[in-house]
Amino acid sequence: MFYSSFIEISRSALAHNVSFIKAQLRPGTRFSSVIKGNAYGHGVEEFGELAYTCGVDHFSVFSADEAYRLHQVLPHKATILIMGYIDDEELAWAIANDIEFYVFSIDRLEAAGRAARRLQKPARIHLDLETGMNRLGLETREVERAADLILKQPDAFEVVGVSTHFAGAESSENHDRVTAQLKQYHLAVRTLKQKGLQIKTLHTACSAAVMAYPETHLDMVRVGIMQYGFWSSPEIYQRYMGTSTDRTDPLRRLINWKSHVMSLKHIPAGEFIGYGKSFQASSDMLVAAIPVGYAWGYSRSLSNQGEVLVRSHRAPVVGIVNMNVLMVDVTGIPGVTLKDEVVLLGKQGNEHITVASFAELSTQLNYELLTRLPMNIPRYIVD
Ligand SMILES: *Cc1c(COP(=O)(O)O)cnc(C)c1O
Repeated sequence: MFYSSFIEISRSALAHNVSFIKAQLRPGTRFSSVIKGNAYGHGVEEFGELAYTCGVDHFSVFSADEAYRLHQVLPHKATILIMGYIDDEELAWAIANDIEFYVFSIDRLEAAGRAARRLQKPARIHLDLETGMNRLGLETREVERAADLILKQPDAFEVVGVSTHFAGAESSENHDRVTAQLKQYHLAVRTLKQKGLQIKTLHTACSAAVMAYPETHLDMVRVGIMQYGFWSSPEIYQRYMGTSTDRTDPLRRLINWKSHVMSLKHIPAGEFIGYGKSFQASSDMLVAAIPVGYAWGYSRSLSNQGEVLVRSHRAPVVGIVNMNVLMVDVTGIPGVTLKDEVVLLGKQGNEHITVASFAELSTQLNYELLTRLPMNIPRYIVD
């Protein structure tokens, strides 16, 4: 084995989640797979190819570099949409390769128009609207101006979609804000249509909105976290379970993060383990060293807090998590030997280390923990 740890990604779990998500949608509503943040830590290339084999043919990324990576593995097989950052120099590449992108300012629209005229090929754009999140998006006062610019250069643009993003659909606290945003969105869409713009795809919903606001589904939904097997928030999960007759979680996690036992040591009672004095053996112990540390995203705040799985038992982290090594107590676990598989995240036997528990102990959000899984840990597809 060449890597100190690796991540397995389950094909059957993804296929299951995609069909669950599609079952929430009206027939005809398109599903776009959001793979920003290195596919929420699952790996743009690995996840993209896998999702394509599960029938996904539309992907939304944050930036041009992610679009580029996906395009390398799926040339012309799927639609790729950049929802965020694209540089002026990258516009020509995007247009030439039929990569779609958001336009959230008049500047960007003008730059896209220039690039399209140079290439003599229309830019496939989505007008992203500011509706109340106050992050990115065309302001209401810019919407008519954008429409005029587009209509003046019909050969430079194809308006594929009009989008917006909700400021917190995962919590009912934001209900008024979200519904006001949707209303604002429809008003702006009406303005664009009255101006004479042809729009193919209206899209607003993220995972939480798919579950909590069916009226936001429209022509397409952009789903990230749910396809990876996680709920946007505990509230969204409880809300769904309250309406379901089946008591089991319909989503399945794709990721298992694994390593192995690198070294075993008997530690006499009274000794301190690792750097400093944060852990002292109160009795004789057997301690396993695992070749994973904070350099690979195993948070230092899991020192003396986290747990891993060895031989289908939970083994607590003892001492401080180091850059490349952590130690776990395997004293009570029968038969532990060198090279035994260690699960840092995911399932072994009947035990689980959930992202939620891991995230809570390291005070990170699901989203944050996943996207921080380093790119240099290899990802393997398993069934
Ligand atoms: C991240 C993101 C999504 C997907 O959000 P999830 O909560 O992961 O489903 C959708 N749209 C935009 C604009 C995003 O940035």
